[in-house]
Amino acid sequence: MTQGTNLPRVGGYNQAVVLDAIRTAGPVSRVELAPLTGLTSQTVSNVVRRLLDAGLVSESGHAPSSGGKRRTLLSPRPDGAYAVGVQLDPDAAVVVVVDLAGEVLANRRVSLPDGAAPEEVVPRVAAAARRLTAKAQVDPARLLGTGIAAPGPIDGPAGAVVSPPNFTGWGRVPLRAMFEDATGMPVAMDNDATAAAIGERWIGGRKRAGSFLFIYLGTGVGAGIVLNNTVLHGDSGNAGEFGHIAIAADGLSCDCGGSNCVGPYVSPAGVIGDLVQRHGAQAAARIGVTGAAAAVHRDWKLLRQAARAADPAALDAVRRAGRRFGQAARGAVALLDVSRVVLGGESIRGIEHILCEEIDAAVNATSVARVIRRIEVEKSVIGDAVGAVGAASLILHGNYAPGWGMLTRP
Ligand SMILES: [Zn+2]
Repeated sequence: MTQGTNLPRVGGYNQAVVLDAIRTAGPVSRVELAPLTGLTSQTVSNVVRRLLDAGLVSESGHAPSSGGKRRTLLSPRPDGAYAVGVQLDPDAAVVVVVDLAGEVLANRRVSLPDGAAPEEVVPRVAAAARRLTAKAQVDPARLLGTGIAAPGPIDGPAGAVVSPPNFTGWGRVPLRAMFEDATGMPVAMDNDATAAAIGERWIGGRKRAGSFLFIYLGTGVGAGIVLNNTVLHGDSGNAGEFGHIAIAADGLSCDCGGSNCVGPYVSPAGVIGDLVQRHGAQAAARIGVTGAAAAVHRDWKLLRQAARAADPAALDAVRRAGRRFGQAARGAVALLDVSRVVLGGESIRGIEHILCEEIDAAVNATSVARVIRRIEVEKSVIGDAVGAVGAASLILHGNYAPGWGMLTRP
């Protein structure tokens, strides 16, 4: 059943709309905000007063006079709110503290022992988060909560991860509740790719307005979907399982049981395997790649460096992965009608340009791209920390981004 809404919620929604306009268009005057938000100047005035009182925006000088009274400009206040972000991977958690502008004030990588149980990981990460917020001298009253970006699959409504790959012994783990207990703060959780897309939307401002597909490469690959400024989660919180898009390839089996998923062909372990298989032991030795399961992190770094240095075998392996990315991205773009594909995650460092080039060629090789619009393919505006910053953005976005959920949330 479609839910109705009540006036106080409309007030909260309007406040989010005005804050969003100030964040993306600011510094901006009250007079300019009315047409930008579709609100009357009286409503804008009232809402701005509330935002000033809440410490979320500030008056930041005046616009040049055009004859009449000089207009006061409004800007967002970075110190208006803070959030902690945690990007959880099998071998480490990256923890960041960010302000309302998405600026990283402190960050730390917490190594996790092989096979560590959730009961060991959660307190360790929560302790690191406490130390970081103290170090960043964050006003506790303005710390809104902790966001967790976890590898899928997740049970979104229940706030649980479900047998995440490479987390030995993890079954169904209620991470959200465990982090709430350990931190004493509100906790939001999402899969890493969707969190990254939310971070990109929160921080990218006008550059990330409208619709885009965010392809996230970590240990595996996933995607976040933003359609007409709305983040898609799906019924179970698993929208954007990019790694399981079927492509015209066969042979490599996927952990989902499929045999032509794109994931195994483009994940770091898959590309390393491809290099060893196609170019042989000599090329692998030249690059320093061992192909051992325990050495994926190191192998992947060496392979990326070799590709950057134009080693022909490494370059070929990365380009082949890029074409596979492109094949799957082309299908996703056709389905969603996004005009932008964004690539991010720390596993793309150094090879972004190669992957972007291949994806660009694939998604723009359609008649729709030629006749209706070109699809822009670019790397994340946030960079390496997009997973952790995205996790923190779950909290900022959840509190302040205007969205339908804001009107219907109980
Ligand atoms: Zn699969």
